[in-house]
Amino acid sequence: MSCIWSTLPAEIRLLILENVINSYEDEENKQNSHPLSKLAVVSNEWQYQIEKHLFKRLIINQHDIDAFHCIFTDHRRKFPQWVWLRYELPTYGCDVCNLPETPADIEANNASFGRSVEKLFCSLASWTSTAPSVPKGRLTLELSVHSPSDKKHFCRELESREYDTAWSYSDPLPVLPLSDRKHGFVRGYRVRELSCTARARVYGRPRGMSLSHAATVLRPVPSVGRLVIRRQFYRHFSVSKCLGPILGALPALTDFNYEHWRGSMALIDRNIRHQQHRILFGDVLSKHPTLKRVSVFEDFQPTYHTHLDSPAQKQLGQKLARSSRHLEELHAALNVDARDFFHNFYPGSNADIADGLRWGNLRLLSLTSRYLAPESYQSLIKAAAAAAQNMLKLQTMELWNGHRRGSCIFRYKVVGGQPEIQLLSTWDAEFDHTMTRCWEAVAQLNCPGRQLISSVGRLDPRYVVGHSTILRFLELIDRMLNATSLNQILAPTRVVAPKL
Ligand SMILES: [Zn+2]
Repeated sequence: MSCIWSTLPAEIRLLILENVINSYEDEENKQNSHPLSKLAVVSNEWQYQIEKHLFKRLIINQHDIDAFHCIFTDHRRKFPQWVWLRYELPTYGCDVCNLPETPADIEANNASFGRSVEKLFCSLASWTSTAPSVPKGRLTLELSVHSPSDKKHFCRELESREYDTAWSYSDPLPVLPLSDRKHGFVRGYRVRELSCTARARVYGRPRGMSLSHAATVLRPVPSVGRLVIRRQFYRHFSVSKCLGPILGALPALTDFNYEHWRGSMALIDRNIRHQQHRILFGDVLSKHPTLKRVSVFEDFQPTYHTHLDSPAQKQLGQKLARSSRHLEELHAALNVDARDFFHNFYPGSNADIADGLRWGNLRLLSLTSRYLAPESYQSLIKAAAAAAQNMLKLQTMELWNGHRRGSCIFRYKVVGGQPEIQLLSTWDAEFDHTMTRCWEAVAQLNCPGRQLISSVGRLDPRYVVGHSTILRFLELIDRMLNATSLNQILAPTRVVAPKL
C-alpha cells in the first residue's frame, strides 16, 4: 500500500486525502474524539493534513489547557484559527438547582475560571513571542461558561444547543418533546416562570464571572484578533473584572462580538448589568484603538425576563456614540437605543457637541430603538440623518424595532454608488418631505450628484410581533449575530428529551 501511495503524484495524494477528510465532515459536531484522528497515524503526510483540518477550530475546557500548551509548540501553531475556551462549572443536583450558588462557590468558581484564563493567555502569549510565531491578530478567541447540569434542571432548552458551535448548528427536530413537571416543562413547553433563585443558579450573580485577583493583569496575546461571546449559555461576565482585563490583553484585537443576556431577576439586576456595560461602552471600547468592528446583542426571553419593556439606559447609547468614533462597523441591539446614540443631533441640542462627534471610518451601523413607533419615528429618522452627515464613509445604516405594538425598519444604503432610503413598518409609515430632505443631504455627501431613491413597504403584523420575528428582515443581521445564534433564536422553542 505504501509503495503504491508514494508513487502517486503529490497533487493526487492531496486530492485523495481531502476526499477522506470531507467524508468525515458530518462528524465534526460530535462531542467525543473525532474519528478522523485515528487516520492520522497512517503516515506523517496523513498526520499533517488531518491535523491541519482537525486543529483549525479547537474547543477546549479548563482541563485541556495543559495538553493544549504541550501540543501547540511546533508547526501545529499554523493550524488553529478559532479557539473556544468552553469553561465548565461544577455539576449540581436537584437539592440546589433552585438555589443560587453560595458565596464560597462563587469565590471558588471565579478563582478557578481566573486561573484557566490566565493559563490559556500564558500559553497563547508564547505563540508570538517564541518560534514558530503566528501572525498578529490571526486567531479568534471564544469564551463561554456553563455547568453541564444546567440542561438537566430548569434550562432544558440547552439540551438541544449545548454542542452547537459558531460554525455548525444541529437541528433539534425531529425529537420527542419533553415533560418534566418538577422543572416546569409539559410536552416540550415551559409552563411556568423560573423562580428568581433558579435563574440565579444558571445566570450567576448579576455582576458576572470575575477573574481572580491575581489574573486581572493577563499576559498580552497579540495573536488574537477577534473575541467572541455567543448567546449559547447564560452566564454573565463582569466587565470590570473579566472582559475589561481580557480586552486589555488583546493588543491586536479588531473584532468584538458580544451576545449577552439581559440581567434576569429584577430591575436591580438589570441595572447592575447596565452599570457593567457603561464601563464597557464608556471606557473599555474607547481605549482600544485597534478595534474596527463591534457587535453587541442583548438577548432576553419572556420566561426569564419579567422586565421585557424596560427602556435602555440613556447613558449607554450616549457613551457608545463617543467610544465608537474610530470604528468601521457598529451593531448594537436591544441594550442601546438609537434615540440616545443620536441624542446630540436632535433639535435644540448643543451644536458644538454634535459637530465634534464624527465617525470618520464608519461604514455599517445598526441600532435598535423603541422610538421607531408611530408617534416618534419621524424625529428619530431626521436625527439619524443629522448624525449621518458626520459619517462620510457610511454605506448602510439600519434602525429597527420589533415590538408587539408595532415594528419598523428604517434603512439607508448605498449600492453601486446609488443612495437609497427604505421604510418598512406594520402601520404603513411613510417618508414626509422633511425626512427625505434630511437624507438627501446625506446622499449628497456620500454620493455627490446622485439622486436619492426612497421606498416604503409593509411588515405583516401577524408575523412580525417581537424582536426575534423581525430579525429575518434585517440586511445587516449576519454582521450583528452569529449564524448559529440566529438559528437558535429562530428555532422552535420546544425542549427535547436528552439524547440516549
Ligand atoms: Zn432540579
